[in-house]
Amino acid sequence: MRLLLVEDSARLRDLLTEAIHGAGWRVDAVATIGEATEAVAVTPYDLLLVDLGLPDGDGLDLVREFRREGVQTPILVLTARAAIDERISGLDAGADDYLVKPFNNGEFLARCRALLRRAPNTKTPILLAAQLSLDVATGVATCANVDLGLAPRERMVLEVLMREAGRVVQKRKLEHALSEFGDELSSNALELAISRLRKKLEPHDCGVSLETIRGVGYLLRETTP
Ligand code: CA
Repeated sequence: MRLLLVEDSARLRDLLTEAIHGAGWRVDAVATIGEATEAVAVTPYDLLLVDLGLPDGDGLDLVREFRREGVQTPILVLTARAAIDERISGLDAGADDYLVKPFNNGEFLARCRALLRRAPNTKTPILLAAQLSLDVATGVATCANVDLGLAPRERMVLEVLMREAGRVVQKRKLEHALSEFGDELSSNALELAISRLRKKLEPHDCGVSLETIRGVGYLLRETTP
């Protein structure tokens, strides 16, 4: 899942970015309508989060513009304007939902999840490999219906491996997926995430093996159908 956050308050941008990473999703954060338009033109997003009061214009105009251009990605409007007519004009402009500031993380993530479930880019919201299942929207991985309790980085690695199940995934690709969690990625971050993932998979009989392909990468293989 990849989200675009358009918010000019640096503080809110940091807080929301942290919350989004905590949910196991990727996010690109920008501060202006200009940057948002550029980002949407080159990246397929699963959800757009749009503040209304932006330095180079009104977020509602951005929402209208996206819809006019045929962008179908769900849009959640973040607004400090609580007046009822402002809310209605947000939905009229083509937003799918709105959230009035201040809001708490739990409410924010719940709204995001609801919209991600109907995202048109979400081709396979539930990934399956033998007894192992990963709900990409919620980030919950289960084995025979038991929650594995994965941390965000473990989820990101598992998502890439499950999408490529049966094929060797290059280390570089997995590291790229992890690097979007911030710049503090250490050289052994991937190895660490893989070893934690293995530890969490081990006690369960998921019917998969996570193999190291020396010098190349990793492979998630179904050992039972
Ligand atoms: Ca603002």
